[in-house]
Amino acid sequence: MKKLAMILAVLVTVLILSVTGFASGYNYSGYWCIPSDAAIAVEGSVIHPERQPITIDGRILVPARSTFELIGVRTNWYPEREVVMMTKGSNSITMNIGKKAAYVNENKKDMEAPAVLVNGTVMVPIRFVAENFGYNVGWNDINRMAFIGIAAELPSRGGGLSSNRTYKVVIDAGHGGSQSGAVYGGVMEKNLNLDIAKRLDALLKKEGIQTYMTRTNDSTVSLYARSGLANSVGADLLISIHNNAGQSKVSGSMTLYYPGSGKTKGNLSSYEFAKIVQSNLVKHLGTKDMGVIQRPNLAVLRTSNMPAVIAEVGYMSNSAELANLKTESFRQRAAEALRNAALQSLNKMYQ
Ligand SMILES: [Zn+2]
Repeated sequence: MKKLAMILAVLVTVLILSVTGFASGYNYSGYWCIPSDAAIAVEGSVIHPERQPITIDGRILVPARSTFELIGVRTNWYPEREVVMMTKGSNSITMNIGKKAAYVNENKKDMEAPAVLVNGTVMVPIRFVAENFGYNVGWNDINRMAFIGIAAELPSRGGGLSSNRTYKVVIDAGHGGSQSGAVYGGVMEKNLNLDIAKRLDALLKKEGIQTYMTRTNDSTVSLYARSGLANSVGADLLISIHNNAGQSKVSGSMTLYYPGSGKTKGNLSSYEFAKIVQSNLVKHLGTKDMGVIQRPNLAVLRTSNMPAVIAEVGYMSNSAELANLKTESFRQRAAEALRNAALQSLNKMYQ
């Protein structure tokens, strides 16, 4: 019986380890790969590669072709031999998937992590490849950003933002808790707003922007607490995320702002902020342009001191738009549109 108890204990331990210890990674090409939230910048610009970076033993790997073509590296992939060859000018690096030995101009060199294949994308160790093509690689812990360049200084951020200014954006998920907002087909506006807000938060963090959320869960928050947070942290921008309701045939995106010049910061007025938000939503979502609308009576807009908007992403009362809003990909694109708008607006503010 004692032996059985011991076997059981070992089994339970193995089970717990396999659930907790390794749950955050995947095995690719024989190596344990962990998804990484690191942002990647090449020659001063943040890039958005088609596949998320991974780490193997703490080394960052990035998609070979799309990352390194930005510094003029050509990537050839020979799937039958699982060989990747990267060339720039007269220099070349040849790697075998899952093998740490690489050839740099025919000289054998050992890598700390091998190239691996992740769902059809060849991922290569960023430092090894960059350095062997004569580039430097830097890492910034605050922005969680790896950057490749000749000088390898921390790049200006997406949209040409400065690397040494702290930008602050308050993200307000409309409604929450006892206030559901619009409700159509069992979908509550408060939940759509929060989901888009969280996605925007992650995207802005990736750009190294300091973000604040008025709520991160299904809690009730007063209108004054929302603008109060933005005022108290000295926010550059306040983005309040909502979804609209109206007649069933009406659809599209709309952005609301407080009129006048009172909510201007640097070179950016609330009106200009609203125009940038609106054009990004319409362009990125393909929604109908329902315009930029003055709203002097909305507490969140009226009581905040900085450029502030309410972005009405879509109409929940329109069945086609509600179907879009129910998909993750549409909400992600809404967040991307708002990220792009925030970057452009911050750039204009401090121009
Ligand atoms: Zn609302």
